[in-house]
Amino acid sequence: MQTSKALDGPFLNGRVCLVVGDITKQTVDVIVNAANSTLLGGGGVDGAIHRVGGAAILEECCEIRRSRYPQGLPSGEAVITTAGNLPARFVVHTVGPIYGRHDEREAELLAACYKNSLRLAVQNSMLSIAFPAISTGVYGYPPAEAAVATSQAIMEFLATGNLLNEVRLVFFKQSDMNVFLRHHKFR
Ligand code: ADP
Repeated sequence: MQTSKALDGPFLNGRVCLVVGDITKQTVDVIVNAANSTLLGGGGVDGAIHRVGGAAILEECCEIRRSRYPQGLPSGEAVITTAGNLPARFVVHTVGPIYGRHDEREAELLAACYKNSLRLAVQNSMLSIAFPAISTGVYGYPPAEAAVATSQAIMEFLATGNLLNEVRLVFFKQSDMNVFLRHHKFR
């Protein structure tokens, strides 16, 4: 019988770990925001990141909207800003799919969120990144299904050869982590 320690990971040669906690408290190079397409803040993870990170993040988001995405950031895409007062160095903002609103392209879009966020981190020479469980809050993505898409996307990205040495998956509650542990595809 496996112990709970073995079940909790780490996974993928120690490059992926799971924790229960608050995304805003993670001391890593970059944390990922479960943003909405306005990039102007919201509730949940988004609200917490802007609240703790301060005005510098919103200022950069406004500039990105103005200069690059006047119609808003599309689902699956990602952009990077300062982390302001957060312990991380940068924030990647990505827009998860709203479950049931994308003609069955939700899994593809959720995978794109993770892969585009990881790509931005690597392009900016980051070695560690922390993700919340994108789309599983207000956006209604069933956590078990999200675990499948998320773990496959991370596994595929890490196999492409890059220097990222820590992908930390941050769950707000132990029960959320337990669902992920039952459904992930890491091997
Ligand atoms: P989305 O709109 O993409 O669904 P939410 O912010 O509503 O994003 O929620 C995404 C997930 O993050 C949910 O599982 C929620 O419980 C969790 N969450 C909310 N606040 C935090 C936080 N401060 N740190 C980590 N996870 C959080």
